[in-house]
Amino acid sequence: MTDTVVANEKINPSKLERAKEIILGLQQELPYYIAGGSGPFLAAIYDDKGHLIAKEANSVINETCSHNHAEMNAIKAAEKALNTYDLSEHNLRLYVTAEPCIMCLGGIMWSGIKEVYYGVPSKSVEQITGFDEGFKPDWLEEFKKRNIVVYGNIEVAAGEQVLRDYITAGNTVYQPDRD
Ligand SMILES: [Zn+2]
Repeated sequence: MTDTVVANEKINPSKLERAKEIILGLQQELPYYIAGGSGPFLAAIYDDKGHLIAKEANSVINETCSHNHAEMNAIKAAEKALNTYDLSEHNLRLYVTAEPCIMCLGGIMWSGIKEVYYGVPSKSVEQITGFDEGFKPDWLEEFKKRNIVVYGNIEVAAGEQVLRDYITAGNTVYQPDRD
């Protein structure tokens, strides 16, 4: 698997170092969330002063809601914490263990999040787990048009190992029935 970092701006080394630190931390915490019944993805939202605003795991199965991806849960928690449906004035960054799926790209776009940093790319998530991440043509460019900064493929090997462990342990890969 490639772990060449991708970005839709000229890579800023300090932003990348911060993202590596946070995403690696999320990947190290994720097995504890999985052990508690969560799905294998974890997202955190920080403000521009480095304060944690929200941290949420995927809860599709344990809360029986197909929308409850980590990013959607974290955005919802941040909006609740800050009492707003428009996060843009808070200048927030979202960090997530894997590339956002088609639904979460929409959720992020409408939330006012300013920067997105992700770990394992969707192609690798799909190969390891069988989850369908959707279709997302040129999304880094589309986000750039909307002034949303994206950095991806951060600490990929560590993230892939958590996903492999999720599968090896026999956890559920939930999909709608398409037969
Ligand atoms: Zn998603």
